[in-house]
Amino acid sequence: MSALDSSTDVVIIGGGIIGCSIAYNLALRGVAVTLVDKGPIGYEQSTRNWGWVHQQVRYPHLIPLAVESVRMWKHLAEDLESDVGWIQGGNLSLGFDDADLAEFELRGETARNTGLETTVLSRAQVVEMLPGMARMKGSWTGALHLPTDGQADPSLVTAAFARGAKRHGAHIVSDCAVSGIDMAGGSVTGVLTERGPIRAPQVVVAAGAWSSRLTRPLGVEFPQRSVRATVMRTDPVDPVTSVTAWAEGFTFRQDRAGRFVLAGGEEAIYDVDLDLFRDIRWFLPMAWKNRRWIRMSVGRPLLRDLTARMPGMPARRQFWQRRRKIDPPADSKAVRETLERFHRLFPDLAGVGIELAWAGNIDSTPDQAPIIGPVGRGPTGLFIATGFSGHGFALGPAAGRLGADLVLGDNPLVNPHPFRYARFAEGDVPIVDAHRR
Ligand SMILES: Cc1cc2nc3c(=O)[nH]c(=O)nc-3n(C[C@H](O)[C@H](O)[C@H](O)COP(=O)(O)OP(=O)(O)OC[C@H]3O[C@@H](n4cnc5c(N)ncnc54)[C@H](O)[C@@H]3O)c2cc1C
Repeated sequence: MSALDSSTDVVIIGGGIIGCSIAYNLALRGVAVTLVDKGPIGYEQSTRNWGWVHQQVRYPHLIPLAVESVRMWKHLAEDLESDVGWIQGGNLSLGFDDADLAEFELRGETARNTGLETTVLSRAQVVEMLPGMARMKGSWTGALHLPTDGQADPSLVTAAFARGAKRHGAHIVSDCAVSGIDMAGGSVTGVLTERGPIRAPQVVVAAGAWSSRLTRPLGVEFPQRSVRATVMRTDPVDPVTSVTAWAEGFTFRQDRAGRFVLAGGEEAIYDVDLDLFRDIRWFLPMAWKNRRWIRMSVGRPLLRDLTARMPGMPARRQFWQRRRKIDPPADSKAVRETLERFHRLFPDLAGVGIELAWAGNIDSTPDQAPIIGPVGRGPTGLFIATGFSGHGFALGPAAGRLGADLVLGDNPLVNPHPFRYARFAEGDVPIVDAHRR
């Protein structure tokens, strides 16, 4: 294990795409920054996601950030001097009847008002514009099309940000859990890690699903929950399409190696743990609205939480070390059903099998929007960048820029007000349809 610098300007907790993108943007502006992750860089959500870079998100205030991000994705490989697998192939939501297409017309109009170029296309128009789509069978009648959306390779992007940050002088430390944030006289003074303390006047919590657990001892609380989702990729086939698509009960994209990355787009698994009870009042309205799509699962996460509460247990002393690599199991039912649906939509690919399936825990807030910025009336020097609710991969480049702007007090890339921590205390938290495409 390498020694840590004992002091720096900014410590970032969490080496997912958000932490690494903030580190890159701070280092680029000459700030001394140390980023620490309890495990390997990008091991949690940031390398397990679908790889979609989408702009039509469920919380409309996010759209300006999403649009800025797409601008950055276009030259990200050049900026980071690394391939990121970027393809700007657009996005399709398939519709199956007049009601779907009418809803798309409405959503298209709302999206156009925010500057997104969306169009509702008939099936014939889709096939004319994207010839590979002629291979899609089934009863779909048209689609909502957003041509500027894209996709990238999650196995490349976070590591590329980390390397970019390092090139500009950031210290990136993996396998080093933070067990607490230190404070004195109302200001943060650094963090305590398993390799010793790091002193810093500014601390950014970008710890994904674990963020609220880290800030809670400072009296900084916010609701955060994770849902487990399964992803899989097929064996490679010849190029069919570069679009990302919501199909009937599943999603797909084809990567540059020809593999289809599929996900059972419908069901979300809530692993029951002790935090579920803490935050239940926040999530109940959304869970009720989306109850058709939610499955509760009682298993390892609850057991792990219970043993960590027992005095004297190693599970309590080594809380973070025992969570160094969280690798949730893929849901075999989701894999089977998704592959069947894929074969039904593309009958000429019926012989194609699954090369790999995996799962990830998507962290979310009740309004499906992140928290980005200082905590206001909380400890001075404490910043949060978390709760990206299924959009953090797409938003990573712009969220990193905005995070750095806010840490440095620079002119922010977009209006940060919708992402403020205080919205929970203010009760300004709309109930969104988490299932809506
Ligand atoms: C299955 C799935 C599909 C998704 N699909 C998409 C998609 O297509 N498009 C999209 O935009 N988004 C998608 N997302 C969401 C996206 O992946 C996340 O929003 C994004 O990766 C969040 O990044 P992050 O850096 O906040 O969190 P993470 O990637 O989870 O990183 C947090 C890091 O913090 C570290 N950490 C936690 N606690 C500590 C501690 N105490 N000490 C040190 N380090 C700590 C963790 O080890 C981890 O590496 C998906 C997510 C999943 C799981």
